[in-house]
Amino acid sequence: MKIICIGRNYVAHAQELNNEIPEEPVFFMKPDSALLRNNDPFYIPDWTNEVHHEIELVMRVCRLGKNIEKRFAHRYYDEIGLGVDFTARDVQNELKKKGLPWEKAKAFDRAAVISSTFFPVSIFPTPETIRFKLNINGQTVQEGNSGLMIFGFDEIISHISKYITLKIGDLIYTGTPAGVGPVKIGDQLEGYLEDKKLLDFMVK
Ligand code: ZN
Repeated sequence: MKIICIGRNYVAHAQELNNEIPEEPVFFMKPDSALLRNNDPFYIPDWTNEVHHEIELVMRVCRLGKNIEKRFAHRYYDEIGLGVDFTARDVQNELKKKGLPWEKAKAFDRAAVISSTFFPVSIFPTPETIRFKLNINGQTVQEGNSGLMIFGFDEIISHISKYITLKIGDLIYTGTPAGVGPVKIGDQLEGYLEDKKLLDFMVK
């Protein structure tokens, strides 16, 4: 399986990092070695001083597909879960300045937190109003709603599949809302999808 992440998919988040609003989805990838499951703790690597949390809705691909038209895209994902796209922001800023790829800052071990539970898309009244949030030590720091995504689930599937074949089990992180910031040792992170707590883990 592979992990594909969308960047700058919420206007307020793009603005908080002084990024342009993209005209088409920006995407990058993480290897499967980046996955952090079962609410295991996240260890801050020793080569960064600034790891940011990015809470995101995650789509699970359920069908093999390439060049998927937007109107058929809904057939290619059937479950939504929650993830954190951990980002070494200091390293990413250096790479961005030099025009280099982001892998060091995004693809490192444990940088892709994923919930054990996914919900069938069908339980949501519409895929356009899915609410989610991240609490740190009991305080809400990020709140999102899929309706605020610049590129919706169908558009993301259609765009990525133009370039990359999607396979069953692939995970697509759909971008983070505003409110990203650093985590520190001892923080407790809790992620909610609607009112269900799907993530609850420590930073060490
Ligand atoms: Zn992200």
